[in-house]
Amino acid sequence: MSEAPYLTFDLDTPGVSRGHLVIPGGTDRGELSLPVFSLNKGEGPRLLVTGGNHGNELEGPIVARRLIKWLPEAQTCGRVIVLPVLNPLAVEAWSRNTPLDGLNLNRIFPGRADGSVTERIADAVSRVLLPMADTVFDLHSFGPTWDFPPAATTHPIADPDLMARTVRMAEAFKLPLTLVWQHNDTAGMFDITAQNQGKVFVCTEFGGGTVGADNLAIYEAGVRNAFIALGLIEGKAEYPTFRQQKSGQTLETRPSDELKSPAPGIFEPRCSVLDEVKQGDLVGILHPMDSLSAESIDIRAPETSIVLAVASGAHVEADKVVALVARPLKK
Ligand SMILES: [Zn+2]
Repeated sequence: MSEAPYLTFDLDTPGVSRGHLVIPGGTDRGELSLPVFSLNKGEGPRLLVTGGNHGNELEGPIVARRLIKWLPEAQTCGRVIVLPVLNPLAVEAWSRNTPLDGLNLNRIFPGRADGSVTERIADAVSRVLLPMADTVFDLHSFGPTWDFPPAATTHPIADPDLMARTVRMAEAFKLPLTLVWQHNDTAGMFDITAQNQGKVFVCTEFGGGTVGADNLAIYEAGVRNAFIALGLIEGKAEYPTFRQQKSGQTLETRPSDELKSPAPGIFEPRCSVLDEVKQGDLVGILHPMDSLSAESIDIRAPETSIVLAVASGAHVEADKVVALVARPLKK
């Protein structure tokens, strides 16, 4: 029988405490200890904050570490558990997936106690930490090959009450974009496991390719706004400034909103994220590079919509998503 994952300290200890979530060893490697911080001010909301789910998205772990610095002073009630790095093996390799087993942690929840290391991490988080929280913030970023505005995201949820509460929580980040994202690759996501237990789960995203001070400030301001909305800290929530604007909008996107490359080549964006485009407007151009005679191909908006994300800085294969569009969420 497999060993059970465990915490090396008591989360009920008042004030700030720290220790590890121990992931038992398996056939592929020995045990793994993930640093965990608990900020306990008694009765109130119970929140779990995680970063480093994907190893090449480093804003989350940084913002999680910053939280630990200011939250103990500011927190007035409730309990916050912070796990800055869910997948240290992927973070150390700056890789989306775990190098050892090739798995994407955010597609194998709730994990398996007797599985490979990534599955054991998911199992430990699902069984040990998730039951201790009512709300989860999983801090992602969109990775190095996309331009994507600071966003709090969720997916369509079958339970309308949980859906409404989740969208409200996501909007409370007051980021430039709140997004309900319907796509065909949600099986095994951390979101689903948490939502199946009735929890409000918000995934933050942030694109741009590089980890920069301006981006981190917006990201952290959004997390602080969400803490205010939960009642964990006092203060006034404000929209952070993004591209000279202080505002936010709630959009939805579907698989049919993915614009794909018609051929292999280099994608040239012709618009910026959050631009409004009309049907037929130019979103970008695909430049095939493997032929002297091949013409560059225009990629146009299928209908009036808002540009959500554009691929940046990478050669793309044929039929790969190069841009996403969206429209205002119908509530
Ligand atoms: Zn991610």
